[in-house]
Amino acid sequence: MASRGMAAYRTDVWSDWCPGCGDFGILAAMQKAFAELELDPATTVVVSGIGCSSKTPHFINVNGVHTIHGRGIAFATGIKLANPRLTVVVNGGDGDLLGIGVAHFVALGRRNIDVTVIIHNNQVYGLTKGQASPTLRKGEKVKSIPVPNIQDAVNPIALAIASGYTFVARGYALWVDHLKELIKKAIQHKGAAVIDVLQPCVTYNDIYTAEYYRDRLYKLEDDPNWDPVVRDPSEDEEKKAQALKKAEEWGNRIPVGIFYVNPLKDTFEERLQKRNPHYNAVKPPAFEEIADSDGRPIIGPDEFRKLFAKYIVKVKGR
Ligand code: SF4
Ligand code: MG
Repeated sequence: MASRGMAAYRTDVWSDWCPGCGDFGILAAMQKAFAELELDPATTVVVSGIGCSSKTPHFINVNGVHTIHGRGIAFATGIKLANPRLTVVVNGGDGDLLGIGVAHFVALGRRNIDVTVIIHNNQVYGLTKGQASPTLRKGEKVKSIPVPNIQDAVNPIALAIASGYTFVARGYALWVDHLKELIKKAIQHKGAAVIDVLQPCVTYNDIYTAEYYRDRLYKLEDDPNWDPVVRDPSEDEEKKAQALKKAEEWGNRIPVGIFYVNPLKDTFEERLQKRNPHYNAVKPPAFEEIADSDGRPIIGPDEFRKLFAKYIVKVKGR
């Protein structure tokens, strides 16, 4: 039993999510996961972009940053690189992370920065009244668009694997305990982790409802032969191929669970530290004192330059 308890991660901020929204399940799963991992609120940061789901940091009692549309991962990258000792989690919608923010989504994977991304995937832009998002499939017509969608959908699992994420999973917002376990594993994983969470939008999405998912979802781990973990570099290609095959499955049966894990790949932070041993091992940049306890600068521009010169990677002969 966790010493802090789930209640310690709640805030008293009023939520304006629609009653029955899947975001409530994702929030509960996060709070439970944080409690069971006994995350220190002082060293945990939840970062978001813009959208219904991006209100999440207001409701979790850790450090929170509610940023701008599509830029949650960009902020999270800066936070993690300035202080690699923090636990950093990003919440965003399918529109925020896979539309306007998709370049940052790809960049996080290829760098393999130790950040967890939770996609609230409801196939619509809920906050702006239900337009088709990048995960709505071609030919589908949710209730707030007048004619069926004419664009192909992005497959978040396939995109994450192609981008280089080293932990790739899919959860379901209404299976809170199952999702909680995925979130715990994603946070504990060293490297870029993503969980594509199927999240009913009860107001605008009348296709992907709780009933729709109830009849179709199954857990990958129920197959005793399913093994998504890369234990030797030689297995990587095969593990990626089996994950991509599963990622294509969508219809009468939809898989949730862990698709792919590679714990062998080094993180961007580790590579950076090899280039400049001062980084992190001695002192993360965020630990340098540049202001007093009231936030007043204690150093001028010249001292600032001198202080942060230690973090510049020196190239021999230049
Ligand atoms: Fe949730 Fe949809 Fe309402 Fe947004 S519009 S709060 S996603 S149900
Ligand atoms: Mg959405």
